[in-house]
Amino acid sequence: MLNLTKFLGYVAEHNPNEPEFLQAVTEVVEDLIPYINNHHQDYETLKILERIAEPERVVSFRVTWLDDNNVIQVNRGYRVQMNSAIGPYKGGLRFSPTVNLSILKFLAFEQVFKNSLTGLPIGGGKGGSDFNPKGKSDMEIMRFCQSFMTELYRHIGAETDVPAGDIGVGGREIGYLYGQYKRIQNNFTGVLTGKGVHWGGSYIRPEATGYGLLYFVSCVLDNNNDTLEGKTIAISGAGNVAYYAAEKAILLGAKVITLSNSSGTLYDEDGFTLEKLHHLATLGRDIQEFTKKYKSATFYAEQKPWQFKCDIALPCATQNELDKNDAEILVENGCICVAEGANMPSTAEAVKVFHAAKIVYAPGKAANAGGVAVSGLEMSQNAIGQQWNTQKVDSQLKAIMENIHRTCIRYGKEECGYINYLRGANIGGFIKVAEAMKAQGVV
Ligand code: GLU
Repeated sequence: MLNLTKFLGYVAEHNPNEPEFLQAVTEVVEDLIPYINNHHQDYETLKILERIAEPERVVSFRVTWLDDNNVIQVNRGYRVQMNSAIGPYKGGLRFSPTVNLSILKFLAFEQVFKNSLTGLPIGGGKGGSDFNPKGKSDMEIMRFCQSFMTELYRHIGAETDVPAGDIGVGGREIGYLYGQYKRIQNNFTGVLTGKGVHWGGSYIRPEATGYGLLYFVSCVLDNNNDTLEGKTIAISGAGNVAYYAAEKAILLGAKVITLSNSSGTLYDEDGFTLEKLHHLATLGRDIQEFTKKYKSATFYAEQKPWQFKCDIALPCATQNELDKNDAEILVENGCICVAEGANMPSTAEAVKVFHAAKIVYAPGKAANAGGVAVSGLEMSQNAIGQQWNTQKVDSQLKAIMENIHRTCIRYGKEECGYINYLRGANIGGFIKVAEAMKAQGVV
């Protein structure tokens, strides 16, 4: 019989000073160990959990580049190739000064379960750099991306490892990375996703994470004979995920009252409209500027959105942005559903508050899987040399999110009827990977 404390002790000992990685592993094995002990005792002998918590490969490399003053800059680049049991490593690249091995291992670990949940043949990986894109010129970004790819190219490939974007890496960065890959390899291939629609990218990829999140929330509400119409929604973040989550929420009839970034929260008592969103997108990091044009909005410096009364909370910024105190306020204010657009935005204590209050908690690995799902569809389109139209990709995205929701119910429904989406996602994502690892022998 597997023992939770013993297993976590083993992981902590083997991965010292990696709190985020340990947090992500804990969140998963708390559900998996009872499940394995009850249904799959063979996994213990096969050491499936020890193996799944150990990256297949980790690459760390020096990224040297010249800034606009011709000063040499040195950053660290990484690629964590976590698990390839069900397909090539797949997952984004994050450029942020907060990047370290613990963060990338937690993200790569989550990605394994998320990618499996999509039903597509994609393994899990993640990478990035401690490079800080803030305040860098376009040419500095380009030189950094070129230098980063000059090492990364030898570790990736359309059938080996397919990176994409994440925090700090969007369409522009993917363009520069792809250009350098193609230049080195002389090969126009689907080695990255999130490409431009005129050069191998998929329609709906930029929108996919945010749209998919709202499709998932629609499934949650539908399951309770409810809809998004008229619901008040608090969203954190102002990047790609938050933006398209807000857009879809508005299109589906909900009222979005907040967006935020690390400088503070923008609260609009009338709710954001599509026009307001477009204006916000032109402001860059200076979201406070928004209040000059729209008087219904107030900027709360250094504050998070969770103090505002809402029916649904969508954390779409970054890991551990929503803590126990925030969770208690949300519950107290009558929030019925928290669905994560970011990866692991709720702390372990916050998740416990949601579960104790029996409100819906949809973890990122299920709720934000739409992004990587459309990346998977981009890989399929590249492989067959075709491009599908918006409607076809969008309907496939919706079908994938509905399917993930069904999987969560299948493995997460408790006797009392409460759906533990975290447990459902953990077990549902795990089974396929574990069976593939078992079939492929001791590797
Ligand atoms: N970074 C995104 C995620 O967290 C997308 C990854 C991808 O498209 O490969 O899932």
